[in-house]
Amino acid sequence: MPKFIVNDDCSRTGMCSYERPDLFEEGEDGYPIVLESGENIEMTDGEIEEVLMICPSGAILKATSNE
Ligand code: SF4
Repeated sequence: MPKFIVNDDCSRTGMCSYERPDLFEEGEDGYPIVLESGENIEMTDGEIEEVLMICPSGAILKATSNE
């Protein structure tokens, strides 16, 4: 399961895949794909918060265990 999810507030800026290509990939429709491979990347709470802050639309959320 990926560490993050992207919700419908995404405005397709591409910032997430630009800033963190290890976690997000820009899809053909411009919406990001959250990479499953990112689940194995060790991150502190502060680093997770930095990823959430990348998105100008607030569309990146931290995934919970049942998402
Ligand atoms: S940074 Fe936010 S708005 Fe931009 S593509 Fe990623 S999720 Fe969408």
